[in-house]
Amino acid sequence: MPNWSRTLALSLTLIASSCAHAADPRSLLLSADRVWTGEGKPHAGWAVLVVDGRVKEVGPVDSITTPADAERVDLPGKTLIPGLIDLHSHVLLHPYNETTWDDQVIKEQVEYRTLLAGKHAADTLQAGFTTLRDLGTEGANYADVGIKRAIEQGVVPGPRLLIATKAIVASYSYGPAERSYRPDMEIPYGAQEATGVDEAVKAVREQSARGADWIKIYGDYRTGVDGSSRPTFTLEELKAMVEASHITGRKVAVHASTDAAIRLATLAGADTIEHGYGASEATFRLMKERGTAYVPTLTAPEAIGEYFQKHVRGGTPTPAMQEAARAFTLARRIGVVIGNGSDVGVFTHGTNARELEWMVRLGMTPTEALRSATVVAAGILGKGKELGQLVPGALADMVAVEGDPTADIAALRKVAFVMKGGKVYRR
Ligand SMILES: [Zn+2]
Repeated sequence: MPNWSRTLALSLTLIASSCAHAADPRSLLLSADRVWTGEGKPHAGWAVLVVDGRVKEVGPVDSITTPADAERVDLPGKTLIPGLIDLHSHVLLHPYNETTWDDQVIKEQVEYRTLLAGKHAADTLQAGFTTLRDLGTEGANYADVGIKRAIEQGVVPGPRLLIATKAIVASYSYGPAERSYRPDMEIPYGAQEATGVDEAVKAVREQSARGADWIKIYGDYRTGVDGSSRPTFTLEELKAMVEASHITGRKVAVHASTDAAIRLATLAGADTIEHGYGASEATFRLMKERGTAYVPTLTAPEAIGEYFQKHVRGGTPTPAMQEAARAFTLARRIGVVIGNGSDVGVFTHGTNARELEWMVRLGMTPTEALRSATVVAAGILGKGKELGQLVPGALADMVAVEGDPTADIAALRKVAFVMKGGKVYRR
């Protein structure tokens, strides 16, 4: 039987928090079996006091000065952790076994994709991911700017978004691939094209002005004579784009799978390398030296294998999966900073935790994987004080899962409670 008084109290809370923002100095005391702050081991008997959407105090429940009017939320059997961060998502894409990437770009209306993205964002938040770095709209123009605005205004529920808008590619070096279509057909493109330093810099400035938080560049593509992946932008073009981004305080994410492109992007000053499957030991060492972070997207090759290469989950890894595993293991051994990013959108939104399960399968401890999706990811975003940790002053982004995820990462599949900015979205 439903607990009506609790349900009513919850709906009143939700109504109150959606109507009144700063005017309501609401406080909540959250207690669970364990609290994992992002550092060290989980603490039994701890609690978190949230006031005005931020963490006010964290510690043993008796040590916290709780305001008399604070709402108490008890989460027995659960572990409270910082809200999770996925550094590589595409809310405007859905799995390619439903619709191929080309067909999503060419045949789906931007309006349809935008509404779907609203659902994707809601599913993501329910799964405990409270922040996404969304790396490109893939042909949906500036739709991410509107989605981010709607989430921030509470029109639709969703994670905090850091967006890249259209992403930048070298002219004729992305999809839908020209060679797959009649040359006299005009088809929409998956990103913004640029050639030469002037156009490349202009694209950075245009996307920045229209709302990009990050600049996403595609550093290689299947442009080889035999269809193999090759670097696209020159070092000069990459350097110019990175400089134009950094001067405005924006960081740069570069998609690069080939060793040559990863090296060029690192030398140009990129902040993160996406995928990085083909990186050599020397290149990973260069990344470590330069402080370039690595976002491995291990789930993407598994998903592609399932859709197009008859891969069965848990079965023999495909060559692409083996390459991804090799790169991940090598990067870890060398000590490159690794941030959690899954390329979700290639696979189902709301199942982002698959990436953390992969990281653990390939050698990380559950705590290391959790850190890459919290403290480490927040550091990569340059938001270490606000996100990724349960410390006083941080935004109250929190998740409670059944069991202890620092012992068993699969606990992330059992999300029981989600809070973003002090507002409860799942209970
Ligand atoms: Zn991607």
